[in-house]
Amino acid sequence: KPVIAIVGRPNVGKSTIFNRIVGERVSIVEDVPGVTRDRIYSSGEWLTHDFNIIDTGGIDIGDEPFLEQIRQQAEIAIDEADVIIFMTNGREGVTAADEEVAKILYKSRKPVVLAVNKVDNPEMKDQIYDFYALGFGDPFPISGSHGLGLGDLLDEAAKHFPKFDGPDYADDVIKFSLIGRPNVGKSSLVNALLGEERVIVSDIEGTTRDAIDSPYKYNGKEYVIIDTAGMRKKGKVYESTEKYSVLRALRAIERSDVVLVVLNAEEGIREQDKKIAGYAHEAGRAVIIVVNKWDAIEKDEKTMKDFEEKIRAHFLFLDYAPIIYLSALTKKRTHTLIPVIDQASENHAIRVQTNVLNEVVMDAVAMNPTPTHNGNRLKIYYTTQVAIKPPTFVVFVNDPELLHFSYERFLENRIRDAFGFEGTPIRIFGRQRK
Ligand code: GDP
Repeated sequence: KPVIAIVGRPNVGKSTIFNRIVGERVSIVEDVPGVTRDRIYSSGEWLTHDFNIIDTGGIDIGDEPFLEQIRQQAEIAIDEADVIIFMTNGREGVTAADEEVAKILYKSRKPVVLAVNKVDNPEMKDQIYDFYALGFGDPFPISGSHGLGLGDLLDEAAKHFPKFDGPDYADDVIKFSLIGRPNVGKSSLVNALLGEERVIVSDIEGTTRDAIDSPYKYNGKEYVIIDTAGMRKKGKVYESTEKYSVLRALRAIERSDVVLVVLNAEEGIREQDKKIAGYAHEAGRAVIIVVNKWDAIEKDEKTMKDFEEKIRAHFLFLDYAPIIYLSALTKKRTHTLIPVIDQASENHAIRVQTNVLNEVVMDAVAMNPTPTHNGNRLKIYYTTQVAIKPPTFVVFVNDPELLHFSYERFLENRIRDAFGFEGTPIRIFGRQRK
């Protein structure tokens, strides 16, 4: 999907516009306990356009001076987006900070659409003329609070969407990514997997996004490590900001089948690890937990078990994810990873036989009677798999309201026991039989 980034100095109304464009879609997705939601990155739709959008204003750069923060946010937008919406405030006119932003964007050569916000009524339209001075062509008057002008603005942005959005890999190519906080060892692990010398990932400005992946072959199978360049690119101040690394992870997750959540054994589990892993789960990707730097800690026979308990307690929603302990540095056990990736990827795409599935569900019902509410008992008529990646099941019932979370969970466990599915989330929806 093409990516739009919203940039602009503080208080021009970036978040309002972001929320308007994203609408309520964000809150619809599955509620995962323990996963808090950063609304800086989301998907949006406008007519036939489907895109992702970033509110760079939501990326907290820390204690940098004001101008420096804006500068870094603009650079994130330049790094990440296909089109930039440059937001200004029609009530305040062109300010010095707007001019600073303009200068940075000007140099980037990315397409920029200039939006003048807070133009709440037609009489105010005259105020947009000053904004031609910023040098980005026609300014688009909008009103975040009244929801005006957004259609025209997005139409204009969509004109700049790339025709080609990343490479299409063949279906049998396993696409995986490594996500995790900075310095957990993602790049080192990529190197270990690829063999140091073979990876020369060019990150030349202007190269298309497809250049950031690392395709390779192993034992006759094809793999692509998604967003290798994003892992390698280092040194910019904002790279270490929390929300920026979440943003990068989101982008990689979206394009992967299998996500390796990399943890650092030395540092244990942090809140941000949970957040990032939560996104992979919600996106329905296969997930493997990798505990790296296993060489760096003192171990006895209980260490692994203790670690596993901690991980399970922190990542309740990832109970299906296998855990691998390894060292990217010494390469100890890095060879164990690929078979686990293969398996998770296979499970992610399993299609089960409908008759066997129904037997499993009926056995489950016989073992644990369906719940009742106000004298009504849940009746399950039929179950069918409607999708893969992740495996998704629809249970046809008399009343979907009666299919409580706990019973759904029970069915999920029975289905898992019967078919495997290690490494992949599965989804179950109740639907009323017509
Ligand atoms: P990234 O930011 O997640 O890509 O992390 P890097 O791969 O750049 O690694 C960060 C630091 O951790 C570097 O100094 C690595 O040498 C070190 N490191 C990576 N993997 C291991 C490991 O398995 N064991 C030890 N002891 N250090 C590691």
